[in-house]
Amino acid sequence: MDKNKKTIYIITSIFIGMFALLILYLVYFTAVKQKQISVNPYNTRLNNLEKEVIRGDIYDTNMKLLATTVNGKRNYPKGSLYAHVVGYSERGKTGVEALANTELLYPDYNVVALFKNAFSGQKFQGRDIVLTLDDRYQTAIEKAMKGQKGAVIVIEPTTGKIKAMYGSPGFDPNRINEDWESLTADTKNSPLLNRVTNGLYPPGSIFKVITTLAYMNQEKGQSLDFKHDCTGKIIGDGYSIQCYNETAHGNIGLKEAFYKSCNTYFVKLSSKVSVKSLRDAAEKLGFNQPLHFDMDYAKSRFQLKETESPFEKAATYIGQGRTLTTPLHMAMIASCIANDGVMMKPYLLDYSMNKKGNLKVKYLPQYEKAMIDEEMTTDLQEMMIGVVKEGTATPLKRKNIIVGGKTGTAQNETSEDHSWFIGFAKYSVEDKNQIAFAVIVENSGNGVKAVDVTDKIVNVYQEIKP
Ligand SMILES: [Zn+2]
Repeated sequence: MDKNKKTIYIITSIFIGMFALLILYLVYFTAVKQKQISVNPYNTRLNNLEKEVIRGDIYDTNMKLLATTVNGKRNYPKGSLYAHVVGYSERGKTGVEALANTELLYPDYNVVALFKNAFSGQKFQGRDIVLTLDDRYQTAIEKAMKGQKGAVIVIEPTTGKIKAMYGSPGFDPNRINEDWESLTADTKNSPLLNRVTNGLYPPGSIFKVITTLAYMNQEKGQSLDFKHDCTGKIIGDGYSIQCYNETAHGNIGLKEAFYKSCNTYFVKLSSKVSVKSLRDAAEKLGFNQPLHFDMDYAKSRFQLKETESPFEKAATYIGQGRTLTTPLHMAMIASCIANDGVMMKPYLLDYSMNKKGNLKVKYLPQYEKAMIDEEMTTDLQEMMIGVVKEGTATPLKRKNIIVGGKTGTAQNETSEDHSWFIGFAKYSVEDKNQIAFAVIVENSGNGVKAVDVTDKIVNVYQEIKP
């Protein structure tokens, strides 16, 4: 009798234990893993849904059709224009096709649909997605890029809404199956790479924004009175660094050095700003850190150490050296500065709806954090406006609109320099309907190609504003 009791007791304990484990597993699965599982494009439940559900459509913010399903095949009416950001759904899923996969395949169950499905085997309809993207920006950017390699992103700083995301070269997502072999084989141009999120570039002179911030951080409250007499060139221990065209900028302070992008000034600023201060400023802004962003992206790198050669140090203070960043990240920094130091999470999905137009999920702006002191951003904004008023980006000057930014020329060992521009545009100091952007034109050589592209973005901004 006792032996039997003991057996029952053991068996019961085992069952209770297994049950507890099962519950824990389920809780873990639903609470912790749910998000990862639902967006995992290889999730078998979703793959099964694809047999039952017609994948929903994707629209820009003004209901321009960007992706639809025709006779079971995915169709992209805009061809390569949205290739990277909207992505593709065969050969794995990328871009919005991956990001919004669960919504696009969310079956619209209703009595009629259930009957049709049960009796005639008709598929359910998935939900449509409306993006934050605006085709007017995207189209103007493609035209301005004229087939040159590079990347452009436009963000609304107060909300984090991404208005445009364009990379070149692209590909035709309608032909992803036919062209797959040649697209993956083309390692020289990497047409499948989303350069906005995953293209890692040396920042060049746009990094002077971060060097300036590091200087502000270090001197908190003190006047930023460091001066340097620029002769157009600086010769250090085993290196020589020039200003653009070897222009001698004379005896200048921080503001003028920023407007004119004086290299020797910022190299000399290393006597004031320690490597640690520079790294702290960079890391506070997201270098070496994960970004708050839902799509796949590359992490920016800042690798300078105190022990490195004078050349490596000098180069890093002006954005050369081993520092690497993405257009996405630099646009986030520009956006944060424009938004008085507050970083909003950049996002692409605005809302989903069923075929009747009923709203299903609304995605809201998400506050990330206050990254820069408001006072510092006011000063930085002024300096960036100075770049357009009297510095290296005067073609962007407008009568009734405020444009600010920073130009950059990024040297790279293999070919011609890249041209960068990051900045913002707004109608008044207090304007909430502003935009921020990052533009890079690869291998464009000397000159301000990125400023030309930005000019077209600002034109659209002016046209759109009522
Ligand atoms: Zn200079």
